[in-house]
Amino acid sequence: MPALYIQTVAGNKTSSQMDNQGNGDSRPMVQGNWTCSECGAEITELPFEPDGERPVFCRECHQKKQADRRGPRQMVQGDWECADCGVKITQLPFEPDGSQPILCKACYLKQKNAQ
Ligand SMILES: [Zn+2]
Ligand SMILES: [Zn+2]
Repeated sequence: MPALYIQTVAGNKTSSQMDNQGNGDSRPMVQGNWTCSECGAEITELPFEPDGERPVFCRECHQKKQADRRGPRQMVQGDWECADCGVKITQLPFEPDGSQPILCKACYLKQKNAQ
């Protein structure tokens, strides 16, 4: 069926064009056979040549790790007061040890920028 054939080709062309525009990721992929160090999934291509020393991760685990790194840190819930402006603080990105004054985010940034 020639009509169907033409449709299929046109469809493929459109989708690959969209891919290229979508993320601009045109790095050449390295073909091979590896195993994800995290979940054990089979990996057939990587955006880099693994050196054998560092673990390789499948796309999902890699994205999960990136998200973990960028995601919000574990916050400690509590009831404190900013040592500078006195505002109530209900969560901190760390467990205060009492040796340092606790500052709200605004005061913390102010102090940091002043240094
Ligand atoms: Zn994985
Ligand atoms: Zn403050």
